[in-house]
Amino acid sequence: MSLIDRALVRALPAVPRRVVRRVSGRYIAGEELADAVRCVRKLNAEGKMATLDVLGEEIASRAEATALVDEYLAALDAIEAEDLDSNLSVKLTGFGLKLDLDFCRVNLTRLVKAAAGRGRFVRIDMEDASTTDDTLALYRGLRAAGHDNIGIVLQASLRRTHDDVHALAPLRPNVRLCKGIYVEPATIAYQGYDTVRYSFAQALEALLEAGSYVGIATHDDWVLSEALALVDRFELTPDQYEFQMLLGVREDLGAELVREGHRLRIYVPYGRQWYEYSLRRLQENPRIATYVARDTLSRLRP
Ligand SMILES: Cc1cc2nc3c(=O)[nH]c(=O)nc-3n(C[C@H](O)[C@H](O)[C@H](O)COP(=O)(O)OP(=O)(O)OC[C@H]3O[C@@H](n4cnc5c(N)ncnc54)[C@H](O)[C@@H]3O)c2cc1C
Repeated sequence: MSLIDRALVRALPAVPRRVVRRVSGRYIAGEELADAVRCVRKLNAEGKMATLDVLGEEIASRAEATALVDEYLAALDAIEAEDLDSNLSVKLTGFGLKLDLDFCRVNLTRLVKAAAGRGRFVRIDMEDASTTDDTLALYRGLRAAGHDNIGIVLQASLRRTHDDVHALAPLRPNVRLCKGIYVEPATIAYQGYDTVRYSFAQALEALLEAGSYVGIATHDDWVLSEALALVDRFELTPDQYEFQMLLGVREDLGAELVREGHRLRIYVPYGRQWYEYSLRRLQENPRIATYVARDTLSRLRP
């Protein structure tokens, strides 16, 4: 972590809420479901798909987890009513992963069944390494119970990911592959920027070899060019993979991918917990603070 990263993160809680809101405004659709619907409609009109993330993973009680599931069900209704091209992304800690695994399973199953009834897909986001085993176990359990409209996320920064790719291969999982946003210790995670990039390319190759549908989630030019080379080598048609990006990040690059005929899905977070979410994300990975600061400054420049 560089000195600049550290200084930026230390200064964050002192930044007025309205300033955080303005800066995070381009990365978050808004507070309400109606804001998210507007945002997805616009993305769809630009030829991009979406995945909705209801902010609220920091829950402390069963009642809060149930309320979050209900919000997801409302989002599902809106997606259907508005005929949007969007699926859902969920963080299992928000569904009670750390409270009670069975309770979390019931919550996830409720949403996955409701989504299946509407022909929609649910992506289980991957959180910090303390949740990986339980998250994969819940995913496997739901697949074993016959639910196919769910997917998992694997993080290239984790040393275990290559073993996970091989262990999951018989399921031909639908995987979002990303670098991993959480800062993890060297015992379990690669620390070098280039090592993580290389790990990403290797994991992607192994997943495609296993016949997985992969959501290639990155804004990194090097990783993107490796991914495009693999797409060529495996002779994939555009319906056999997709690229994924975060709302508001490298939109120029996203537009270029769409122009070239690739499918692109945008991750759209929304919800009343935008402030807590913004601070937590930045504190979890101080490098993001530098990205955001750099991007904001470049937009201010004439
Ligand atoms: C659709 C999607 C879903 C994700 N889901 C998960 C998940 O479930 N679990 C998880 O651990 N991680 C997730 N991530 C985050 C991911 O792991 C990385 O932390 C993030 O994508 C940055 O890595 P990068 O490949 O873009 O490369 P980087 O080298 O980190 O970024 C490349 C460039 O992209 C820009 N950039 C990247 N991120 C940001 C940002 N947040 N704000 C502003 N600019 C930025 C910068 O210009 C940077 O130079 C997800 C990412 C995406 C795109």
